[in-house]
Amino acid sequence: MIAASHNSSQFDTWQSCMRAAITDPRELLQLLDVDMKFLPAARLSAARFGLRVPRGFLARIRRGDIDDPVLRQILPLGAELDDRPQFVADAVGDLAAARVPGLIQKYRGRALLIASGSCAVHCRYCFRREFPYGEHTASRADWRAALAQLAGDSSIHEVILSGGDPLSLGDAKLAALTRGLAGISHIKRLRIHTRQPVVLPERVDAAFCGWLRQTQLQKVMVLHINHAQEIGPELVAACAALLEAGVVLLNQSVLLAGVNDDVDALHALSEALMAMRVLPYYLSLLDRVRGSGHFEVSEERAKLLVGTLMGRVPGYLVPRLVREIPGQASKTPVAVSLMT
Ligand SMILES: *Cc1c(COP(=O)(O)O)cnc(C)c1O
Ligand code: SF4
Repeated sequence: MIAASHNSSQFDTWQSCMRAAITDPRELLQLLDVDMKFLPAARLSAARFGLRVPRGFLARIRRGDIDDPVLRQILPLGAELDDRPQFVADAVGDLAAARVPGLIQKYRGRALLIASGSCAVHCRYCFRREFPYGEHTASRADWRAALAQLAGDSSIHEVILSGGDPLSLGDAKLAALTRGLAGISHIKRLRIHTRQPVVLPERVDAAFCGWLRQTQLQKVMVLHINHAQEIGPELVAACAALLEAGVVLLNQSVLLAGVNDDVDALHALSEALMAMRVLPYYLSLLDRVRGSGHFEVSEERAKLLVGTLMGRVPGYLVPRLVREIPGQASKTPVAVSLMT
């Protein structure tokens, strides 16, 4: 581990931390003492989907280790260039499900807003790495089209902010949304799917928590943490602040080869989540998006891992193993049996 490269974080705004993110593969390899022989491939893969990682997050990565489970999630590797026939651009059928730009409803009772196209970090396995965000964010024009659709459909009780990362938006944009939602009586819950508190804990500042606290809707935040090593003291503090603001905290992970595809890693993650009062929600099998084939874990192995975890921890610390199948009415559960 290395010390956070910016120890003045209480003076930096989250926006300046976001702007200062590392985008040059050479700089990343240098800062982490990783062999420069990985640079040419990193550059080629970054030309397809750019490298992006906040400087503070480097503190969560071991130096000089190309196999580090956190580094593997953010470093462009040559393996991304191996095209595999079943790995495609829109792996989850999102484009077909858009009702107005940025509003996607695939499941009953809840609708998802693509709130922002940008993220503080670029996760190499992300199914949105090929998503054409330009035309598809709901926050343009102050959410008007999306709010009109939501107001006209009383079957929707929950609005999910997703992206990209919805917390790439500033607090004023978020507040405009909640003001709009407050006028729609059938909307009860606001859910936020975000990785920002993990990779850029500065985002969870006093102004943001103030917005959450005064929002009348029930609030759920689904974090995205794949490995216990991603959890540092800043994230622990951010979770405490979110809980204090009245947010229910859950976590979803993606099962990733070379990152968290072993029982000890999953066990440690569940325990570390619980230690900060975050419950595991989903463990997703990888969506087959172009360039992510090297992260795939077979369904058979996934069942073995989760079945073994079941024998080790309380039921509430076992995430639900799911896969996303276009056209289904929810995420599709993968049946797991207890392994002893
Ligand atoms: C994953 C997802 C949801 C949320 O599903 P839950 O099972 O409620 O967590 C909602 N809408 C879309 C389009 C999704 O992909
Ligand atoms: S933060 Fe989420 S949406 Fe953004 S690249 Fe990572 S996994 Fe994808």
